[in-house]
Amino acid sequence: MSLPHDPEQVLHDVFGYPRFRGPQKAIIEHVVGGGDALVLMPTGGGKSLCYQIPALCRSGVAIVVSPLIALMRDQVEALRQLGVRAGALNSSVEADEARATLRAMHNGEIDIVYMAPERLLADDMLDRLDTIPLSLFAVDEAHCVSQWGHDFRPEYRGLDLLATRYPQVPRIALTATADGPTRRDIVERLALGRGEVFVSGFDRPNIRYLVEPKASTNKQLEDFLDSRPSSESGIIYCMSRSKTERTAEWLRDKGYHALPYHAGLDARVRADHQDRFLKEEGLIMVATIAFGMGVDKPDVRFVVHLDLPKNLEAYYQETGRAGRDGLPSTALLLYGAQDVAKVFSFIEGSEAAEEQKRIERNKFSALLGFCESARCRRQILLEYFSDHLDQGCGNCDTCLNPVETIDGTVIAQKLLSCVYRTEQRFGAGHIIDILRGGDTDRIRQYGHDKLSTYGLGTDLSKSEWQSVIRQLVAAGLLVVDVEGHGGLHLGPAERVRPLLRGEQQLEITRPRKDKVRARESGASRTVPEHARPVFEALRGWRKRLAETQGVPPYVIFHDATLLAIAESGASSLAHLAGISGIGAAKLERYGDGVLEVLAAERAV
Ligand code: ADP
Ligand code: ZN
Repeated sequence: MSLPHDPEQVLHDVFGYPRFRGPQKAIIEHVVGGGDALVLMPTGGGKSLCYQIPALCRSGVAIVVSPLIALMRDQVEALRQLGVRAGALNSSVEADEARATLRAMHNGEIDIVYMAPERLLADDMLDRLDTIPLSLFAVDEAHCVSQWGHDFRPEYRGLDLLATRYPQVPRIALTATADGPTRRDIVERLALGRGEVFVSGFDRPNIRYLVEPKASTNKQLEDFLDSRPSSESGIIYCMSRSKTERTAEWLRDKGYHALPYHAGLDARVRADHQDRFLKEEGLIMVATIAFGMGVDKPDVRFVVHLDLPKNLEAYYQETGRAGRDGLPSTALLLYGAQDVAKVFSFIEGSEAAEEQKRIERNKFSALLGFCESARCRRQILLEYFSDHLDQGCGNCDTCLNPVETIDGTVIAQKLLSCVYRTEQRFGAGHIIDILRGGDTDRIRQYGHDKLSTYGLGTDLSKSEWQSVIRQLVAAGLLVVDVEGHGGLHLGPAERVRPLLRGEQQLEITRPRKDKVRARESGASRTVPEHARPVFEALRGWRKRLAETQGVPPYVIFHDATLLAIAESGASSLAHLAGISGIGAAKLERYGDGVLEVLAAERAV
């Protein structure tokens, strides 16, 4: 089709969206005008449009560098659904199709071509590109160029060549994750010094953050999953490979639709599981963090952490895979004192230099502070990224269910002295029994009913004491020995002593029962009750179409678009055309089908 050259019009006609989001307009105008740019935008912020629209507004072929084949395939499919002439060149593309794409490039019959960096930088490809009019280069996942980033790819290093070889072609680099050093590194490595930097805030307002202490983990997970519609897709992160398999199996036994994913699985199995996650609905992927990067599924409705992430960057990144489509989504983190100890000992036991370990310990402590805080989770998270939120967000557990802080000095003193008096070798359970004046074999065996701290803590329940222990572990006042049997011992004397002597006070969150929070998740229902039947009918229709075409359902329409259709009560093509996410190509291709579904639903 022939394309308009005005960005706004391309947004309406091709993508079917009424308006630009955040800084998209400024970025797109800058690139259409021939400028270089570095774009830092959170996941789901809408980075793709920032190069796709300039690619359609400028003449020539746009080359998009992407590190992941699965991602390319998805993007190309989504563009083709929109009627955009797009292709990919990478090792998974059949020779025939690759030849057709190359021919189209030479003949000016294609607008956007995705390539792996090594493919782009091969001599024969560069020679070709010398003879082809180019509209722009886009470098997606640009943090891959930096060793400071979390996913360094040496192939990205050669990309600085584009600046010298094609000085007249604008270059735009995009990433969701770049702290200061990584950002400077990207600018340098990609020779973007003369480009403009566009930074958006880090907030992901549609993600609800929930953090819950572990009480009975399986039950908590089940409650959480049962509070949500079974048609939702989600990711459950675990630290170890074996735990992903055990958890997936346990979930399947319970009747959930779950699959494991980790780097130890056979490559074919892994690819198959990933593909099913993209194409099927209501699938739960139980995975190590090997899963997620490059999974561009927009309708992941929840991310659960059954083990603690390494730090807040990792948490932000992993939870960020939920809700790319902007619809309400939930991130649930479950953690216990043992997990805290495990991560600390993991850091200690690593090969890293002492300096590196110190940084990792500090970063992990910041994560613990986040978990144990009584403040708005989002505020803490954003502050960590030097971003800012004036008020509590109203969409995290501490906002929805405020916790009080109290002076915990005396409580902490009782606990620490009980640990001290039992020679710093017993676990949380026994210590709590002593404090609560329990009558157990162990207590009698060791004569712990004779201790001065025996029965001093009957005012708190077991789970309340557990909360106190976690908070003291998070504050470094108590340490859990994970190598042995989880015995507790005191933290460094310079921290513990002032507290025991009463020279320093300690504020703690009011110890609470463990269960109160997960319930909230059900409240964040994505689809309101009245729209549900029509929405489900549309999903069914979309699913059948997706299966016939062998594509993920969301490349046909996003959930957000189906929801808007369901709520519109549309009865004509003209009405449909006004709905966000329905551009000209999709209207022509699917409009009648949608109207039939709506008519059938009205008839019942
Ligand atoms: P990112 O790459 O930044 O994670 P995407 O480019 O995948 O994000 O965009 C996230 C979602 O937002 C996609 O479903 C996209 O179609 C949608 N989107 C992007 N820009 C707009 C817009 N201006 N209006 C409505 N939806 C948009
Ligand atoms: Zn909040």
